[in-house]
Amino acid sequence: MDTLSQPFTFSQRAQKLSGSAIREILKVTARPEIISFAGGLPTPVGFPVEEMQSAFNKVLSEQGRTALQYTTTEGYLPLRQWLAEQMSAEGAPVQADEILLVNGSQQALDMLGKLFIDEGSKVLVESPTYLGALQALSVYDPSFVAIPTDGQGMIPEYVSAPEAMGARLLYALPNFQNPTGLRLPLERRQDLVERCAAAHIPIIEDDPYGELRYAGERLPSLLSLGRKAGATVVRLGTFSKVLAPGLRLGYIVAPAKIIDKLVQIKQATDLHTSTLTQMAVYEAVHNGFLEQHLPKVRDIYQKQCAIMLDAMDKNFPDTAQWTRPEGGMFIWVTLPEHVDATALLQKAIENLVAFVPGEPFYAGNGVKRNTLRLSFATVPEEKIREGIAILGKLIKEA
Ligand code: PMP
Repeated sequence: MDTLSQPFTFSQRAQKLSGSAIREILKVTARPEIISFAGGLPTPVGFPVEEMQSAFNKVLSEQGRTALQYTTTEGYLPLRQWLAEQMSAEGAPVQADEILLVNGSQQALDMLGKLFIDEGSKVLVESPTYLGALQALSVYDPSFVAIPTDGQGMIPEYVSAPEAMGARLLYALPNFQNPTGLRLPLERRQDLVERCAAAHIPIIEDDPYGELRYAGERLPSLLSLGRKAGATVVRLGTFSKVLAPGLRLGYIVAPAKIIDKLVQIKQATDLHTSTLTQMAVYEAVHNGFLEQHLPKVRDIYQKQCAIMLDAMDKNFPDTAQWTRPEGGMFIWVTLPEHVDATALLQKAIENLVAFVPGEPFYAGNGVKRNTLRLSFATVPEEKIREGIAILGKLIKEA
């Protein structure tokens, strides 16, 4: 029986929210007998449990009363200073007062939506793009404009097209994009920041996967290129993929004027991010721990990615195409045009395999229903081979 007896009215904003049909289908993938390539989770094998345990212990025993107290909305200064030093060393000179610590980059996306979007404001997004960003920004009722992508990622020329004029934001994932796994080449990064500077469109650079690079050279961030080109770049970073997502710790890098407004927004939302977590993460990372830790995490993903690609080469038909990522957690598959990936998912689940169909990663026009995302991050080798063989057979049948 419903325990609520009084009538109530949800806001129009809340009424517009809806659960995703695909999420409902994917609920079954939690069943242990299902081989799931659907998850977006990082591998728990890579979580530094002992290091985090000693970092939390050290903070609590040495600075317990500070760690359990409220702190500033901006966040723990030594961690912001450490982040500023890291980015400055990588070619983007940043000051601690241009950094705001948040509860993961997902919170940053919500805050940026609140900051920049009015009903109907144009927001440029890659097509396809991170579905969680579409969800977060949708709350503020923007009008999404899809920027087409090809085998190298977003095509910058479209930023100068008439449909893009007057956009409030461009949301970009330059490194090992979710869902495609693609990395935007240097020339396109340069072109993109120049076009955005000329059109006065601020860029959100969401980069959770940049440190999970297992091939190729490091490329300069949009933040570093944008500063030289005079573009406004808001960069989002997170400890979710380099340490662990359960920490819920990320950061926003932006010009101080934008940070000041975001501080007001965050203060009204949740005052600040957990003091204890910020101090423990600083304790864990400030002495160079990531330099030993990250190679291990990259090795895990590199190996699993190679296994999945090898299994796909052996089992998928020639009529399917897929990306060959040099980092991150995802492979993007394009099936022959007549194959609907959502229908294929139903069949796959009956055969105990799951993936995410491409459809929810698209905003606006140009949805390609014959696409799907595979994650190799949390599936062991034999299961990757078994699952891909089943999927290959189903694609051939379709
Ligand atoms: N952006 C992208 C592209 C992601 O893939 C994710 C996590 N799946 C997030 C943001 C959110 O990450 P977090 O809030 O854990 O930092």
